[in-house]
Amino acid sequence: MMPTDVALQWPPAPLPWQEGIYQRLCRADRAGKLPHALLLSGASGLGKAQLAHAFATGLMCNETSPEPCGHCESCGLMKAGSHGDFRWLAPEEGKRAIGIDAVRAAVGFVQKTAAYGTRKVLLIEPAEAMTAQAANALLKTLEEPPGSSVILLVSSQAGALIATVRSRCQSIVVAPPGPDQAQEWLMAEANCAPDQASQALTLADGRPVAALNLMTTGEVAGLAELSAVFDRVLSGGMDSSEAAQALGQYDHGVLLELALHSLDKDLRRGALVGANPAGFRCRDRLQALLAAHQRGINFARDTLPAEVARLLAQQRVQGM
Ligand SMILES: [Zn+2]
Repeated sequence: MMPTDVALQWPPAPLPWQEGIYQRLCRADRAGKLPHALLLSGASGLGKAQLAHAFATGLMCNETSPEPCGHCESCGLMKAGSHGDFRWLAPEEGKRAIGIDAVRAAVGFVQKTAAYGTRKVLLIEPAEAMTAQAANALLKTLEEPPGSSVILLVSSQAGALIATVRSRCQSIVVAPPGPDQAQEWLMAEANCAPDQASQALTLADGRPVAALNLMTTGEVAGLAELSAVFDRVLSGGMDSSEAAQALGQYDHGVLLELALHSLDKDLRRGALVGANPAGFRCRDRLQALLAAHQRGINFARDTLPAEVARLLAQQRVQGM
């Protein structure tokens, strides 16, 4: 299956801020030094899936250049999503976790001889969606992938992966672009004015693909309001019960991501009182809640907003 946040551009190419990593991977492949297991990590909303897809398409391409040519037989099959030597492992529709049966099937796929060319590519995204059992089922194959197969793991929460999976992969960290590059890209993609791009980028904490998603779903206004609620709670201008009410209408994932973003902003500039073990504990707790939400755990409708409001209300920005 294809990921939802991969641009429909053909042939697929890396995003501007991924060019350096992409070229490094291509050089390693050309030199026959590409590791068999790679972990692409970094914040969500940076387009890591797109980078992995572009690189995987180039690995499958029949032409000798590492970049995909876009028109050979392999590229045609990749475009149609039906290449027999490539598999994209993601949670099934309507689910958030990747279970052990899906990983066993993917391991079986890697073990079989390549049908078209010489190599098989397995892309797992998001890798942190694997249950612990599923991740364990992958370990042996990660350690000794058969033939010239390549396993690409993509994760926005690499810390949530079991350590034995992480240690078997070469780690590649995708960093966010600088503000100018992010703004230039977003203005071109969303065809918008500089101040619109800059507002969306602020809400998305500088992550361009996340900012683009906010703009295309029209969520920017709603999120600006939500962000204002968090800032008021953190500055002591709103108490936790009032905040819990204001937060009740939002999607739990959005709520947790933005709460983390608001807290992080203040933690980074050292603005929280005592700057501050409690602030970091609060962030750990919000992160754990977000990870649980992403693993498919559902919280009762009202308890999560109340918990988020309570956690943030315990933090106070200095000088307020
Ligand atoms: Zn090709």
